[in-house]
Amino acid sequence: MNADLERLIALQKLDTTADAARKRLAAEPEHEHALEARLEAARQHVAAAKERVAVNKNTRAALDKDVAVQQGRLSKFREQGMAVKTNQEFHAIQHEIAFAQTEIKKIEDAMLERMMEADDLAAALKSAESQLAAETKAVEAERKTGSAAHVEMQATLERIAVERAALVAGLNKDVLATFEAVSRKRNGVAMSEARGGICTICHVRLRPQVFNTVLRNDSILQCDHCNRILYYVPIPASAATAPSDPPAHPAS
Ligand SMILES: [Zn+2]
Repeated sequence: MNADLERLIALQKLDTTADAARKRLAAEPEHEHALEARLEAARQHVAAAKERVAVNKNTRAALDKDVAVQQGRLSKFREQGMAVKTNQEFHAIQHEIAFAQTEIKKIEDAMLERMMEADDLAAALKSAESQLAAETKAVEAERKTGSAAHVEMQATLERIAVERAALVAGLNKDVLATFEAVSRKRNGVAMSEARGGICTICHVRLRPQVFNTVLRNDSILQCDHCNRILYYVPIPASAATAPSDPPAHPAS
């Protein structure tokens, strides 16, 4: 194979790997943002659950007060009932007593409902808190993995820079200029494998003469359509050859 072509293929591999590492590094702030949003959502669930518990507690305290007020009225009317002089007064007091009793019953029913609700709310708070604990643990683990990957990607980029410099130093300047120009124009992908008469990246059929030349891998040729530099990967010998005949008997 043409030495420059071989270097270009290696160069493309390095560039593609470096590109992927840079993209992942660039995506880190967004990833971190998503992790923080997950934590924040879990924190808000806990805060909302706590708020509902507090509202329930305040409501029960208010009902306690209401029931005390009604019981006070009830005792007052019962005392007054002892001292009534007329039938009319008696009926009026009885009416007040019945009203206070109904009110107390209503408040006690509401209280029972709130107490049952309190159990559900306490369970919901506990579940939100354990969800938050789980999310915190998961996010911490992801951050740890992320920072290990960060270190690894930085190291990869440094290694690639060194390898790339060595490759570039050995390349023909015009060939390198072509590679760089196509790479800039084609999103960092300047090389394309030709297979079955087709440029495998832009999928355009190559002129037979071009493809036949590419098969030899001995010159720098570009796809007429996408301008990428073409190369051919020979089919491995094991796959290309038919099952061989049994070995001949050694000469005696
Ligand atoms: Zn092409």
